[in-house]
Amino acid sequence: MSGNKAVVVLNCRIRTRACKDYKSLKCEIEIGRESSTTLAEMFTCCFGLPCEPQDGAAARLPQQICIDCLPLLKQSYILKRTDIGADELIRLGLEDIGNNNNNSNSAAASAERAAGRQRRQ
Ligand SMILES: [Zn+2]
Repeated sequence: MSGNKAVVVLNCRIRTRACKDYKSLKCEIEIGRESSTTLAEMFTCCFGLPCEPQDGAAARLPQQICIDCLPLLKQSYILKRTDIGADELIRLGLEDIGNNNNNSNSAAASAERAAGRQRRQ
């Protein structure tokens, strides 16, 4: 027991848990050498959920991420960005193969597969 001393406990936006050490969603995080982004943008990218400064007051959503989740979010963000880049390359490659074979059905089929993949996400 720590007497009457108030302990500030804030919830993490990612996992519903109390945390004492956290970073604000407005915090800028460096990704690679030349790019940086905010934790809010990383959250939205990874979870597909809106993350606005005003939702703290309006919806009482936590405006911080705990230091335990921070590296996980960063890894997820980098992985997602990598996948988006790789996916574009793969699609371009598939289109090239389709064009080289003069087979428009193949290109249409890969476009359909891509659309199906989009729907599953
Ligand atoms: Zn957390």
